[in-house]
Amino acid sequence: MNNSKIWLSSPHMGGKELLYVQEAFDTNWIAPLGPNVNGFELDLEKYLDHEIHVGALSSGTAAIHLALVLLGVKENDEVICQSMTFSASANPILYQGAIPVFIDSESETWNMCPKALEDAIIDRLAKGKKPKAIIAVHLYGMPFDVDAIQFVANKYQIPVIEDSAEALGSTFKGRKCGTFGDFGILSFNGNKIITTSGGGALVTKTKELKEKGVFFATQSRDNAPHYQHSEIGYNYRMSNICAGIGRGQMEVLDKHVALRGAMNQFYKDYFAAIEGVTVFTEPNSDYKSNHWLSAIVMQPEKLNGRTREDLRLALEQQNIESRPLWKPMHLQPIFEKYPYYGKHVAESLFEDGLCLPSGSNITDIERERIKQTFDLFFNK
Ligand SMILES: *Cc1c(COP(=O)(O)O)cnc(C)c1O
Repeated sequence: MNNSKIWLSSPHMGGKELLYVQEAFDTNWIAPLGPNVNGFELDLEKYLDHEIHVGALSSGTAAIHLALVLLGVKENDEVICQSMTFSASANPILYQGAIPVFIDSESETWNMCPKALEDAIIDRLAKGKKPKAIIAVHLYGMPFDVDAIQFVANKYQIPVIEDSAEALGSTFKGRKCGTFGDFGILSFNGNKIITTSGGGALVTKTKELKEKGVFFATQSRDNAPHYQHSEIGYNYRMSNICAGIGRGQMEVLDKHVALRGAMNQFYKDYFAAIEGVTVFTEPNSDYKSNHWLSAIVMQPEKLNGRTREDLRLALEQQNIESRPLWKPMHLQPIFEKYPYYGKHVAESLFEDGLCLPSGSNITDIERERIKQTFDLFFNK
């Protein structure tokens, strides 16, 4: 049997990407600007289908950083951030010399708990500091409770940065993720639902904010014949080559969402019969995940003591990649000294949760290999 590696989430080209890249070569637009960059931004604006503007950048991390810069976050300011996430949500807070304040998850969406968020805001205000921004994440493509988080943010007048890096194609009450926050951010890293090999985007509510973001992203060059600068600049714009890949990928985005959904259904069908394993699922019909990653939670007490680490090793034996859920930021050596609000929801998800192969390019034969490995492990 072919034993080639089955990845958690690997790049999946649609076929048209090379045409856009070829066009960039043919017209010599080999630069961090050009027709593909503009075209990719328009494609994204059309797809997100709301009153928003999109600036294509070199990464999702750069987009979060620029959102913080645009919100005026400075040294010693406090920024609230979901603890259960990838480190890229939180690192830009430190780039600004600001202080992250981490928030636990709720068990329904695994995302920022609105109750813990409000507790944190009340306590930070009592300590004399109003948080400058809230970074909320749609983890693994699952929308956070947009209504509840926005309610708290509005009540205390704190802007929201919506980290939609994993959630392009997800919706909440029919509206696309990435369009809710004061700023939204997207990622096109190699492992995301579509990729530009590496890239990201900043989603803004006005054209002026997009232009200001692009200004910062292109070294903050003032309007002058010589190079003139009055503000700190960054080199964060997307390459016209990468944007060409992105334009091709936009043509298959909806197909990728459907295929990842089918992968998720495969796991739901399989684990329906296994007590002690729960597949991560939308809490109700307001939520529609793009199923970027499918994940399970295991209860060792119902599985003869066997843990998610045992299953991970069994899969690894068969050259099948899986990974524990994100280790919460408040438990990370680089972030553990910062304030944290909540209980142990994120921590216990990390203890018992596992992400499974979820790519849109996984074949029937590969699914069969995954199934056989499960059959052996769960004695079916
Ligand atoms: C991937 C990711 C990012 C960062 O995106 P890059 O394009 O890799 O810089 C930010 N937040 C989350 C939740 C992510 O998964």
